[in-house]
Amino acid sequence: MSAYFGGHYGYSRSSTGKLLTCIEPIRVMALELIKHVDVKIEYGIRDQITQDELYNKGWSQKKWPGSKHNSPNLQVLTNPETMAENEKSRAVDISPYFGHLHPKVDWRDNEQSRAKFYVLAGTIMQVIRDLKKAGKLPADQYVRWGGDWNMNGDMGDQSFNDLAHWEMG
Ligand SMILES: [Zn+2]
Repeated sequence: MSAYFGGHYGYSRSSTGKLLTCIEPIRVMALELIKHVDVKIEYGIRDQITQDELYNKGWSQKKWPGSKHNSPNLQVLTNPETMAENEKSRAVDISPYFGHLHPKVDWRDNEQSRAKFYVLAGTIMQVIRDLKKAGKLPADQYVRWGGDWNMNGDMGDQSFNDLAHWEMG
């Protein structure tokens, strides 16, 4: 069985909880995406402790509350179920499983692991185009990918890659 075709995917409890902390366009995109490819939601909203931790590790370039993963009103994440829509994350970090062959996310910074993120990015862009066509996302929906920050289609002009990162608000 090819890793690319077949299989029924679904979000884990952890991914579902993180998705709940994201604004509606992200949820709409992610719920469509999982029908096509096996992915994991790494981060929706990040509270101050989480953002500080990632910043200190160098995994995020933004200090709290400057990231689209942060909500200035939300210093400590409580219950995702009761979050107000305007407190939710305007960015999501999504990683590819390509489940059958590689059950775990490969975070090594090498050609092979980067290739998986680029393949996933193509699928995400297709899903967004289809959702726009179907009227399930606005035609002018803002989208920005951390693999092409200026969204000019040139992935070689990046000063910093964040291949899992998608902003939709
Ligand atoms: Zn991110």
